[in-house]
Amino acid sequence: MKQENLKFVIVGHVDHGKSTLIGRLLFDTDSISETKINDIRQICEALGRPFEFAFIMDHLEEERQKNITIDTTQTFFKTAKRDYVIIDAPGHKEFLKNMITGATLAEAAILIVDAHEGVMEQTKRHAYMLSLLGINQLIVVINKMDKVDYQEDKFNKINADLQPHLNLVNLSPNYTIPISAQKGDNIAKKSDRLNWYNGPTVLEALDSFKNIIAAENLPLRLPIQDVYNNIVVGQIESGILNKNDEVLILPSKQKSKIIEIKKWQQELNKAEAGDNIGVVLKEYFEIKRGDIICDANNLPQVTNEFKAIIFWMSKESLITDNSFILKLATQETPAKIKKIHKLMDSSTLKAIDRNDEIKETEVAEVEIQTEKNIVIENFNFLPELGRFVIVKNDDIAAGGMVTATFSNHNNP
Ligand code: GDP
Repeated sequence: MKQENLKFVIVGHVDHGKSTLIGRLLFDTDSISETKINDIRQICEALGRPFEFAFIMDHLEEERQKNITIDTTQTFFKTAKRDYVIIDAPGHKEFLKNMITGATLAEAAILIVDAHEGVMEQTKRHAYMLSLLGINQLIVVINKMDKVDYQEDKFNKINADLQPHLNLVNLSPNYTIPISAQKGDNIAKKSDRLNWYNGPTVLEALDSFKNIIAAENLPLRLPIQDVYNNIVVGQIESGILNKNDEVLILPSKQKSKIIEIKKWQQELNKAEAGDNIGVVLKEYFEIKRGDIICDANNLPQVTNEFKAIIFWMSKESLITDNSFILKLATQETPAKIKKIHKLMDSSTLKAIDRNDEIKETEVAEVEIQTEKNIVIENFNFLPELGRFVIVKNDDIAAGGMVTATFSNHNNP
C-alpha cells in the first residue's frame, strides 16, 4: 500500500504548549474554517483573554464527540508538499499500545520544551519513549520564546540542558527550533524576532522528513499460509515477485525458482506487496505454513533469540521462564522471556524496579527465546516481519516489536 501522508506525534511536558502548537499548525495551514476561528475569538473575548490556539483542539474534540464518524485519534493538515496526520492519543498508554500493536505508526515526532520552564521529568520520559519506539525523525521545539524575550542564550541554555538526556537514550534531533506557538514564530513563517536562528521553520522541517519506505520497495518476503497440492499460497508482505525469480525459502535455506504466479484463476508475470497469490516452484521439497519465500540476494535474520519491546495487555501477568506461543506473520513457535532489561508503567512512563514479572499495561524491553528458529527483521526496517503477538491460553496477551536480532545463521 502506498503511503501518501506523514504521521507524527507531538510529545512534551504538560502545559509546554502541545495543544497550542497543534492549533497553530491547523490555523497557519488554513485547515480550520473562518467560522470556527470566529467562534473561538468570541469565546476568548468574552473571557477577556487573548486568542487561545489550544481552543482549536477543544473545538475539534467537541465536534468528534457529536459526530462519531470522525476518527478520534487523528488530526489532519496539509502543506504544498504533502498531507500530515497528527496522532493524538489520549495518553501514553494508548499511544504505546497503538504503536506496538500496529494500530498506528508514527513516522516522526516533535518534542516540545517550554523556554521559560526548561527540561522537566516528562520531557526526559518522552524522549525515552520515542527512542524505545525507534522514532528517528525528530524535531525539538523550544516553545514560548516570546516569554523569554526571544533571547538566543535562553535557547542555547535549554538546548544544552536537554542534550545529555537525549544522548542517554540515543536520540539525535534532526532540528532544534526556537518557536512561539502562540505568536506564530517559526511555525509556518520565519520570524524576524528570532533572526539569530538560521534553520528551517517547523513546517519546512516536517516537509524534509521521509515517509517510511513503501512495502513494495523493500526486499521480497512472502510468508506461506498454506500449500495445496503443488501450489504455495500466501500474501506478499513486502517487495515484488516476478515469474522466473530465483528465491530462497527460509528457515530451511532451500533455493528454488518461481515457475508460475496465480491470482484467482489468472496467471501473472509479476505480483507485489499486498497481493494474495499462489505460486508454483520449480523444485519440490517439503514446504509448509510458516516458511517464508525471500529475495535470495537480500535475506532476513533466522534466529531463536532476539530483543524486543512488548506491551502486556492481559490481566494475567507473565513470569519470566513461563512458556507462551509467539506468532509472527504465519510463523508460530513456543517461546519464553529470557530476560527483562527494563520495565515501565505505560501511563506514567516511570521505570519499574522488577525483573521477573510483567503485569497488565506494562511495557518491557526484553530478550525472547523461541523454541524453533524463526525468520524476523528489525521492526524499523521491515515492520511486516518485525511485529508479533504473544498468545497465552488462546488469548492475545501482548503485542511486540523486534528491536534487535542476534542471528545464528543469517548467511545461508
Ligand atoms: P499542553 O498541555 O502541552 O497541551 O499545553 P497548552 O497548549 O494547553 O498550553 C499551556 C499554556 O501555555 C496555555 O495557557 C497556552 O496559551 C500557553 N502557551 C502555549 N504556547 C505558548 C507560547 O508560545 N507563548 C506563550 N506565552 N504561551 C504559550
